[in-house]
Amino acid sequence: MSAITWPELEAAQQPNWPDAAALAHAQDVLRVLPPLVFAGECDELTSKLADVSQGNGFVLMGGDCAETFAANTADSIRARLKTLLQMAIVLTYGASLPVVKIGRIAGQYGKPRSADLETIDGVSLPSYRGDAVNGLDFTSDARIPDPMRLVQTYHASAAALNLVRAFTQGGYADLRQVHSWNQDFVGSSTPGKRYEQMAAEIDRALAFMAACGADPEEFRRADVYASHEALLLDYEKPMTRIDSRTGNLYDVSGHFLWIGERTRDINGAHVDFASRIKNPIGVKLGPKSSPDVVRALLDKLDPDNTPGRLMLITRMGSSQIRDVMPAIVESVVETGHPVTWVCDPMHGNTREAASGHKTRLFDDVLDEVKGFFEVHRAIGTHPGGIHIELTGDDVTECLGGVGGVSEDDLPFRYETACDPRLNRVQSLDLAFQVADMLR
Ligand code: PEP
Ligand code: MN
Repeated sequence: MSAITWPELEAAQQPNWPDAAALAHAQDVLRVLPPLVFAGECDELTSKLADVSQGNGFVLMGGDCAETFAANTADSIRARLKTLLQMAIVLTYGASLPVVKIGRIAGQYGKPRSADLETIDGVSLPSYRGDAVNGLDFTSDARIPDPMRLVQTYHASAAALNLVRAFTQGGYADLRQVHSWNQDFVGSSTPGKRYEQMAAEIDRALAFMAACGADPEEFRRADVYASHEALLLDYEKPMTRIDSRTGNLYDVSGHFLWIGERTRDINGAHVDFASRIKNPIGVKLGPKSSPDVVRALLDKLDPDNTPGRLMLITRMGSSQIRDVMPAIVESVVETGHPVTWVCDPMHGNTREAASGHKTRLFDDVLDEVKGFFEVHRAIGTHPGGIHIELTGDDVTECLGGVGGVSEDDLPFRYETACDPRLNRVQSLDLAFQVADMLR
């Protein structure tokens, strides 16, 4: 294997590993582990995203803000997958569009933080940077960055992706299972009941097709791709390999990687890294993004204008999207660049509840998606997808929605290791509303 060399560039948001030799060892281990994904799968995803960029499809991207090793269980993975599959079927059926399903799963273990230190009751410790770096417990031991966690990240991701592949290819995602995804607590909710009606219509359509002798292979399986933020370059670089077919570099830690709002410096190491790999990639764009900065990112990340290569994930906040986004979209249209536009209605809408919990209002999330659709409809570009933080469980982290999580409910099931996620019912509710917007 020939060695890959990387330029020395400033990398924001990296851990302060205390032991350089231990880091080098972890990276040596990673460099020879088998790839988690195959380059051909990444290319296949690029080609599906190319269709979306041309208006023929919709991206559903979702999962935890921060996966944890403790929650990397069969139950948790199945529940997240169920949420994604239910949302995807609502969107596919409601909008008659192919839905490209991408999980924030099997690798979403690193987190950027606004402060290096977290202070509680006068005690300051290094911030939690995701299970790939340190532990969430507020103790000095847990917060020391440990590079062997990068190796643990690889193994946790491999196990999760293996189960995702087994479920989605082995019958669990068969369209004849649409009802079974709606069992448990979600079934009795208002969106759950609406879902049940839709599932009955799908059943009738399937029975009709079967009676006509049609039983397409496509109905038996779903493709769910794995994505995470390419934040920890000490993990992503050793996971980057030269594809023997083409000589191109692929980051084989996941199918799709994105660059976060805090690390998209045009001269920084993250953008340089993303520019060298062939995977489809995304960039988050917050409310301070300018048309100039976005154009520079297009030039750097996709100089060849390859459809499906680059996704722009806007996360402006519901109060700013209608003001900030039009100039950016128009300037991208002028360049003729075939980007895929995706709306992250979560990260611009975070607020603190009176109890101190970090939360988001379901109505803000919904309103940002509406604003995203309005801007794209007005300009004539395709609103190509949503990027959501969600879980498969009945958590109480985001406020509102038909289930009506209230401020008083927040402490009951506030389980996220980082940002607040939509619960199953809120996710399904959102899917129905987005499907209506797509019609
Ligand atoms: C995230 O996706 O969890 C995140 C930190 O997003 P952003 O980079 O947009 O703030
Ligand atoms: Mn987040």
